[in-house]
Amino acid sequence: MALSRSARIGAVVTAAASFFVIAASSAPTPGASGIGDPYFPQLGNGGFDARHYDLDIAYTPDTGRLDGRTTLRARATQNLSSFDLDLQRLQVTRVEVDGRRARFTRDGDEITVSPRDVLRKGRAFTVTVTYGGVPEALGGPIVFGSRYGWMKTGDGVFVACEPNAASTWFPSSDHPSDKATYDIRIKAPKGLTGVSNGRLVSTYDRHGSTYTHWRESRPMATYLATATIGKFDVRTGRTPGGIPMYVAVDPVLKNANSVDVYGVTAAATDYWSQVFGPYPFEETGAIVDDMPEAGFSLEVQSKPAYSAVRSESTIVHELAHQWFGDSVSVARWKDIWLNEGFATYAQWLWAEHRGTRSAHDSFLADYNARPATSSFWQIKVADPQRDTMFASAVYDRGAMTLQVLRERIGDTAFFRLLPAWTRLHRYGNASTADFIRLAEHVSGRQLDDLFATWLFTPGKPAL
Ligand SMILES: [Zn+2]
Repeated sequence: MALSRSARIGAVVTAAASFFVIAASSAPTPGASGIGDPYFPQLGNGGFDARHYDLDIAYTPDTGRLDGRTTLRARATQNLSSFDLDLQRLQVTRVEVDGRRARFTRDGDEITVSPRDVLRKGRAFTVTVTYGGVPEALGGPIVFGSRYGWMKTGDGVFVACEPNAASTWFPSSDHPSDKATYDIRIKAPKGLTGVSNGRLVSTYDRHGSTYTHWRESRPMATYLATATIGKFDVRTGRTPGGIPMYVAVDPVLKNANSVDVYGVTAAATDYWSQVFGPYPFEETGAIVDDMPEAGFSLEVQSKPAYSAVRSESTIVHELAHQWFGDSVSVARWKDIWLNEGFATYAQWLWAEHRGTRSAHDSFLADYNARPATSSFWQIKVADPQRDTMFASAVYDRGAMTLQVLRERIGDTAFFRLLPAWTRLHRYGNASTADFIRLAEHVSGRQLDDLFATWLFTPGKPAL
């Protein structure tokens, strides 16, 4: 995610950690209502592993109503008497498990499903949820100073859900530690285009509606899914390096575009493929929508979503996230610097690549811009707390940490480390401890002091 204005920092709330005790006996028990992320204890669900979502949605811009049916293929990871799904606000009308109607109850954002038969550990099952209503964007304490999630636009909807808004439009295990593949089917009024992740399988008009089917065949975190709908000019092709592209631009913004979104997307996708390792997804691209209220862009998997025209630097940031955040995803939200610090550092690398400024000079400019008394230095980058998880320190001090690391271990080791990281954790999840371990392994150096100072200790480090 890239912020287009300074983050408003809400009060810091330390969420109570949740602990779940798994009984050793084989008696079936309910799956946990959350995976226990201290920042969002109720997000994600215990007792099963989500494998594939089939999302089928119909959206009516005039009324704002969404009607959906989600079929989730999953595997039980314990003997389950019941399990939960996350869904915010929308109404559930029917639930089936393996095609048979199942009882369900609701407590706030948790739907508890009780299948007719116990789901034994290791068993594959499908759960189908029929639901509907008017999705609402989220706001409140989480921090980047904008509403986010399912956001109505003049001609449709802009959907960008980090960190916890995917469950405002589809029932899910809404945490990045439970990634899955997707089929996404969108029905919208004829003339509007539904844009989503992965590659376009089919699109056709029928009875006044346009049906679009997308498939994301690589694992994806829930917050990276989109179903952005509106009027779009679409341009497809390939990068010079051969990666298929799909770029959708709201025609309202055609003349506002001083940046060549298509050209920068192609060039940056190819350049990052050299620096970070092979491009992890089937397609690259962009969604540029007229949603100025959003004030941010998001690294939607395979097609970053820009809520208005953005700078070249923002585009290279969101594309760097395809490796750092989308392919290699955080294990817990406190690891968010592994996304934002790296994507910000990529902006410095891009400036270096273009010959406009060295990463060292970018580091110094950021470092010198903040006096030691600045609150910037008080954020603990490796655990910034939920309501300040998108504070500028997570981005900028995270990037500074990488420059300090590069200067300590040297360019050769540093530019071996980055692709080693994306290869080792490709399509998976990783933590700050994993990164420190790999950096020490690749460089053959002891680096505890460096990371302790830059990531774990508030205060402005001395140079
Ligand atoms: Zn970002």
